[in-house]
Parts: sequence; structure tokens; C-alpha cells
Amino acid sequence: TERTLAIVKPDGVFGNYTSSIRKIILDSGFSIQREATLHLDEDSVRSFYAEHSTKSFFPNLVKYMTSGPVLIMVLQKANAIADWRTLIGPTDARKAKSTHPDSIRAMCGEDLERNCVHGSDSYESAAREISFFFTQTFSE
Ligand code: ATP
Repeated sequence: TERTLAIVKPDGVFGNYTSSIRKIILDSGFSIQREATLHLDEDSVRSFYAEHSTKSFFPNLVKYMTSGPVLIMVLQKANAIADWRTLIGPTDARKAKSTHPDSIRAMCGEDLERNCVHGSDSYESAAREISFFFTQTFSE
């Protein structure tokens, strides 16, 4: 079994998508191991998305991610990382609406920036991102 970090971003929370997203998560066989609602500050977002710090969209990403509360969840099941990425769909929510209409980003995202959810993209990212938000007091 594997863990991944999911985030419902501010547009997803403001749009009242958290309960439908939670239902999709549970119906898809994940268990929600930890969850927290947080309002991230700029330093947290800069540090979480450090790999994008030199990109031109970074200032907008910081504004977006600090614009309201986010719901952070640790999801667990076999193949959790890849399966959650499949469920959320492509980064560009506008493209997702045509190419992956059943994806979460097609349901609640808007475009390349405002894509309503996050998912860890590798085992290493998942480990880093989970410990970024949660002290790992749970066992395998
Ligand atoms: P996430 O890491 O949030 O799951 P991702 O892995 O699909 O998304 P990344 O390339 O890691 O996408 O980008 C992180 C986030 O930065 C995206 O989810 C999106 O909100 C924003 N973003 C990425 N590329 C752009 C861009 N070209 N213009 C504006 N925002 C962008």
C-alpha cells in the first residue's frame, strides 16, 4: 500500500467541491488517513512549490494558493500516487474538460493555473509533501 498527498486548492474549497471530491476518493477505494483544513501563508507556498520558484507563473501561483483555505489529505491504497494523478486529470483543467471529461480537474478546475486539486507526482514527492504537512506518527 502507498500514500499520496492530495490538496483541494482554494478554488475547489470556495466552489464547494470538497464533499464531491471526498466521495470520489472513497468510491475509488482510497482511505483518507489524515486531513486538515489550512490557510497557507506565502512562505509555506513558496517552500511547498520550491521547484517552481524560478518560473514566470510562480508569483501568481503563490497568490492563488494563499487566496483561501485548502483541504489537505493523505490518501492511502495500493498504487495511490499514480491512481490519484489519473483521477485528477491533466494539469490544464481547460484541456481536461475536452480530453478527460470524467476527471476531477474537468469537474472543478478552470485553466492551467486554477486546477482545483493537487496530487504528488512521485514516491519522493509524496514522502516530502506528506512530511511537509504532517508529522508521521503512523506506521506502514
Ligand atoms: P500539482 O503539483 O498542483 O499537482 P501538477 O503537478 O499537475 O500540479 P505542476 O507543473 O507541478 O503541475 O505545477 C504546479 C501548479 O502550478 C499547477 O497545478 C498549477 O496550479 C500551476 N501552474 C503550472 N503551470 C502553470 C502555468 N504555465 N501557468 C500558471 N500556473 C501554472
